[in-house]
Amino acid sequence: MTTDSAAASARATVYGYPRQGPDRELKKAIEGYWKGRVTADALEAVAAELRRTTWRELAAAGVHEVPTGDFSFYDHVLDTTVMVGAIPARHREVVAADPLDGYFAMARGTQDVAPLEMTKWFDTNYHYLVPELGPDTVFTAHPAQQVAELREALALGLTARPVLVGPVTYLLLAKPAPGAPAGFDPLTLLDRLLPVYAEVLADLRAAGAQWVQLDEPALVQDRTRAELNAAARAYRDLGALTQRPKLLVASYFDRLGDALPVLAKAPVEGLALDFTGSAAADLDALAAVGGLPGKRLIAGVVDGRNIWTNDLEESLAVLGTLLALADRVDVAASCSLLHVPLDAARERGIEPQVRRWLAFAKQKTGEIVTLARGLAQGTGAIAGELAANRADLSSRASSPITHDPAVRARTAAVTEADARRSHDYSERAAAQRAHLGLPLLPTTTIGSFPQTGELRAARADLRAGRIGTAGYEERVKAEISEVISFQEKAGLDVLVHGEAERNDMVQYFAEQLTGYLATQHGWVQSYGTRYVRPPILAGDVSRPEPMTVRWTSYAQSLTRKPVKGMLTGPVTMLAWSFVRDDQPLRDTARQVALALRDEVDDLESAGTSVIQVDEPALRETLPLRAADRPAYLAWATEAFRLSTSGVRPDTQIHTHMCYAEFGDIVQAIDDLDADVISLEAARSHMQVARELAAHGYPREAGPGVYDIHSPRVPSPQEAAELLRTGLRAIPAERLWVNPDCGLKTRGWPETRSSLENLVTAARTVREELSPS
Ligand code: GLN
Ligand code: ZN
Repeated sequence: MTTDSAAASARATVYGYPRQGPDRELKKAIEGYWKGRVTADALEAVAAELRRTTWRELAAAGVHEVPTGDFSFYDHVLDTTVMVGAIPARHREVVAADPLDGYFAMARGTQDVAPLEMTKWFDTNYHYLVPELGPDTVFTAHPAQQVAELREALALGLTARPVLVGPVTYLLLAKPAPGAPAGFDPLTLLDRLLPVYAEVLADLRAAGAQWVQLDEPALVQDRTRAELNAAARAYRDLGALTQRPKLLVASYFDRLGDALPVLAKAPVEGLALDFTGSAAADLDALAAVGGLPGKRLIAGVVDGRNIWTNDLEESLAVLGTLLALADRVDVAASCSLLHVPLDAARERGIEPQVRRWLAFAKQKTGEIVTLARGLAQGTGAIAGELAANRADLSSRASSPITHDPAVRARTAAVTEADARRSHDYSERAAAQRAHLGLPLLPTTTIGSFPQTGELRAARADLRAGRIGTAGYEERVKAEISEVISFQEKAGLDVLVHGEAERNDMVQYFAEQLTGYLATQHGWVQSYGTRYVRPPILAGDVSRPEPMTVRWTSYAQSLTRKPVKGMLTGPVTMLAWSFVRDDQPLRDTARQVALALRDEVDDLESAGTSVIQVDEPALRETLPLRAADRPAYLAWATEAFRLSTSGVRPDTQIHTHMCYAEFGDIVQAIDDLDADVISLEAARSHMQVARELAAHGYPREAGPGVYDIHSPRVPSPQEAAELLRTGLRAIPAERLWVNPDCGLKTRGWPETRSSLENLVTAARTVREELSPS
């Protein structure tokens, strides 16, 4: 390895790019196809044109090697399932009848068949379709789409590298198919899967691929020795193939740790590694294993997950160190650019000076190209870019937006006592019982009521100027009063105002807090054709004025029953935004927590006795490596407590989380010290109630008895039966009755019946407990 030759050949590349097109053309075409308004041919034409445009743009920007196969109509893990022929039995008929419709049936289900399960792609907000594999799964190679896309790129005269989900990650992401024996481990199918990958690789090679990238992000998670051995075996076997392109194994989202020596020793020609954030530890690890003699290294030095301008000098320093550790060093983002929006230059609503702090996919591509040029030709060749970059970074570092002295002083003065309620739970519970006078098994909902077409139309009217603020607020008030009167009639005990005024539970608050930026075009794929526009947490956070008090107070003025105040918690405010990279997350969380604390206190002063602070994202931002989790949970739970601990003992703090896997964070849930927690539980038949009980959870809980993910109305008997199941784990004095989650995606008719049945169920079970 000579540093000079490794540098001279430095190239720029990316692993993947946003799929949707500048104006979400892909979403429109796919949804049009679903509705029968766009033909399959027209859809394919839109897709091909989007791919071509992306490749041309990447090449024009100076990317030497473009990716293929990263594009998808829905999800690249589903595409891999198709590529290896692992179609679940229930989908085979639709797939055989029409591959495209079959593909969408696997993704979304049909009247007759359920879709594949969807879950989060590592710790991103992208969701993939979970492969379902069993002992009977037969893999067969279907590389047509991969080959076709490679040919499209090559036809443009470009150097292209197909990017595939690697075989080990594919199996590690799979779950046992329905009917598989208990404890079935999909990884046992590796020997069956490898020949199929071998076939795909041979076909790609025949079609002109010099290199193929195999993504193995599952190796950045804690892995057992057996799993690491499986990875070693996979790449030993693939490496030993004769008819194959050069292999590049890619990892991202965290450090490889123990998997690094495994991949470094594998008989493949290159590795692509992440050197950002907590993955930067791989830099030392790489040196410790003696580098990658004879191999190509692609260095992910531009963060592919955040939206901030790269510190080019810092990246150059990392690249400089890496030059001594491989035969050839190329430059890339840490992961696919799928997780960032397309183009920051289009954000005309953001001040030009601030816009220069931002780098979306297009800007990141520019940074990668600049870094590769700096590496190959020396920093003199990029002097202009370096100077501009220094200026942008220093404008951000010295801006009053990122440094508000009042916020800084307040955050610095936080004491441990600020994050602790003034009284123990037992004293609080007594005070709350006296203050609220609720019946046994109190009934409530999670916050939102159906977001009707009229409400969305009213917001569109407001944005378009067809109605004024006053007109809009009248419509929201009308909705609130309807929601309150329904709940009173239905006989619920703790009411909500229904969240009619909220477009989204994070955006609504982000728009009102100082320190957040909103984008106009910052769409990021969440799943399929669903795109979200996360707000950007850019600066120090403060709350100029109350955000929810008027709506809650208005609702309270209409009833004598308690109305719950409803806020989004600090962890979720961070998790569903693009966060700052210039200070620890803990500090950002504290700032948001203090702003929310002001809101909590104001709600209490306005007469609100029950306040819910939702934290549905607490578990999803759990670090990938177990070693990093205690630190995260410490700041996350502290932030929650900081936002909720300013209240009197007789004010009842609720929280809510949706997901079903609590095992790993039950202690953290306890550490929130919320008086009441509501959780999703209907589908798992109250599993969480048993988990909380096993942990010895001491406070009140409402495991959901109504599955809101389906329009199905639970009968009173069914809800009562779930309640009785709940009672076997949680004593009646601490059990609440509520749905699994908010009702915003539901229609009014099923919401009405379901909640009426829920109240009936609560009354039936109360009667059983203490017959009157
Ligand atoms: N309060 C929110 C609602 O009811 C909670 C949503 C959530 O948990 N994601 O919609
Ligand atoms: Zn929820």
